Amino acid sequence: MKLPKVRELIEAIKALIQGPYTSKFPKEPHIAHPNFRGQPEFNQDKCVGCLACKEVCPVEAIAYKDIVDKDNNAKRIIIHYTDTCIFCGQCEAACIVNHEGVKLTNDWELSFFDRSESDERIEKELQLCEICGKPIACKDHLKWISEKIGELSYSNPTLYLSHLKSLGIVDENIISALKDKGRSDRVKILCARCRRETTLTTK
Ligand code: SF4
Ligand code: SF4
Repeated sequence: MKLPKVRELIEAIKALIQGPYTSKFPKEPHIAHPNFRGQPEFNQDKCVGCLACKEVCPVEAIAYKDIVDKDNNAKRIIIHYTDTCIFCGQCEAACIVNHEGVKLTNDWELSFFDRSESDERIEKELQLCEICGKPIACKDHLKWISEKIGELSYSNPTLYLSHLKSLGIVDENIISALKDKGRSDRVKILCARCRRETTLTTK
């Protein structure tokens, strides 16, 4: 009779004492190792909607849509396509808010009956240009920039007015009735095109 090797014998005794190495999935949920790189998850409160994560994603698993309704309510929807993601962690590494706007989890369970359920979506409020009404950036992003650069934001009305809006001192998304883009329009929240036109105009 062939005798078992010593190493295998030790492993067999250990398994008898400690129990099996394998989990009972799918009978019981499998808990992944804490360092397992699973699917990323957005943090609605910490994300500022800057889209840096979208820019660095190597497989275009992050996309966005900017939506403005007839009452000038504007929002940016950021979408993460779980079925495209390769869990590389580049989005977390590039996230401008201390890598906390999006984070890898150790969630590995990716089976869905309906494929559309695999998307993760968050919504961020958009700031509109007060002359042309086009989206400039997310409100939280403008606030983040103005806080980051501190008093330097007072050289740019878009930044300091965004900050004052976040404090509730200035009204929300008022689109100017006058479209003359003159000197009087300079102290407004403006997109780059309208800012340039109001600065270069001689009116
Ligand atoms: S983990 Fe990688 S592939 Fe997935 S969304 Fe982030 S950057 Fe894209
Ligand atoms: S704050 Fe972070 S998670 Fe949010 S859009 Fe920017 S990079 Fe992506």
